[in-house]
Amino acid sequence: MSYKADITIIGAGVVGLAIAAQVASKDTEVYVLEKNEAFGLETSSRHSGVIHSGVYYPKGSLKAKMCVAGNRMLYDLCERYGIGYRRLRKLIVASSDEETGELNTLLERGRRNRTESLRILSKREMKELEPNIEGVAAILSPSTGIIDSYALMQCFIARATDGSAQIAYQTKVAGIEKLADGYKVSVEDRTGRSSFTTRLLINCAGLHCDKVAELAGIDIVKAGYKLHYCKGEYFSVGSSKSKLVKRLIYPVPPPKITGVGIHLTLDLDGRMRLGPDIHYVDNIDYAVDNQHKQLFYDSARKFLPFIEYEDLEPEMSGIRPKLQKPDEDIQNFIIRDESDKGLPGFINLIGIESPGLTASPAIAEYVRNLVKELLAK
Ligand SMILES: Cc1cc2nc3c(=O)[nH]c(=O)nc-3n(C[C@H](O)[C@H](O)[C@H](O)COP(=O)(O)OP(=O)(O)OC[C@H]3O[C@@H](n4cnc5c(N)ncnc54)[C@H](O)[C@@H]3O)c2cc1C
Repeated sequence: MSYKADITIIGAGVVGLAIAAQVASKDTEVYVLEKNEAFGLETSSRHSGVIHSGVYYPKGSLKAKMCVAGNRMLYDLCERYGIGYRRLRKLIVASSDEETGELNTLLERGRRNRTESLRILSKREMKELEPNIEGVAAILSPSTGIIDSYALMQCFIARATDGSAQIAYQTKVAGIEKLADGYKVSVEDRTGRSSFTTRLLINCAGLHCDKVAELAGIDIVKAGYKLHYCKGEYFSVGSSKSKLVKRLIYPVPPPKITGVGIHLTLDLDGRMRLGPDIHYVDNIDYAVDNQHKQLFYDSARKFLPFIEYEDLEPEMSGIRPKLQKPDEDIQNFIIRDESDKGLPGFINLIGIESPGLTASPAIAEYVRNLVKELLAK
């Protein structure tokens, strides 16, 4: 059979674009389909922009492996392609003696994940680095930084289109039909509904990836692919405080690591913000609830005593595509070819929440290897 496309990628977020950059080549017809009018308008522009080091994730998990590998790859990409970044470093601050015990657990986990050069700082060492924060001890993570994620996506697009990939915006995947050896993909665009064939299909649809998997006939509840939306809001901190810390400052994470705790980040222009918090929601709605300001203030005051209630203003929010329900244990990324479900050549990426931005180049390399194996068959 002859196909219009060799590889079709659903979703032009950072993950779909990173994959497009890896698999595009002059002799492979690659399409990226994006329902919005531009790239990266969903989770890939609603995050903290942190290049994570890999401290938090269970040993051996894809999250841990891809975070640690992605961290190094991102710094290399930034250097090679002139993408804005700053290796700011990060402190995880214990506010009590009980939390100091947690620091040791995190340090061990981070070391097992091969996170670079983590070490515990005494209160005095911590205060020498950051005199304006409060706590009894901290972990210093030297490989944590921040990145211009918009420029990263532009870089992936340039590499993908150099390799002759084509990106179709305002093109929503609305149907997937298995053919003898490939897929018929139905799309809705400005001109109406049409379809084309592709040999391989890669689902990077972020918050909608479970629905896309369902289009191909997968029972998402049985497969464990059903997503739970978990919102994270941010409050900006007034610019008068922005010189008071130089590093990213995190608390010890809450149990089960649903998130890493409301923390303080800086952007590339030195602006400070707090977030994200954690609450499960039923719908995608990015409004920030000003009533949550007190929670942000109370959480931050513990380790950032210079923050005043009046400093905080609602800023923005993002939504995590979580595989776990509230109070369930942290889940791994799902990245797999669905041959065992009778859908060979359909690659699903499900639950790509944090550290998905950091992991994006490593995820892309992993998927490229799956693609190579599938094309060689
Ligand atoms: C609050 C928050 C903070 C975070 N902070 C960090 C951080 O500091 N560091 C880090 O490493 N990670 C962080 N992350 C995680 C990171 O942002 C995500 O893992 C990453 O952006 C996911 O990218 P994606 O391409 O998978 O998804 P998305 O960016 O959501 O892209 C998916 C794309 O698919 C498109 N799409 C969906 N359905 C269809 C369809 N049917 N047809 C066509 N197109 C479709 C969508 O329009 C969208 O553009 C954070 C996430 C959140 C929510």
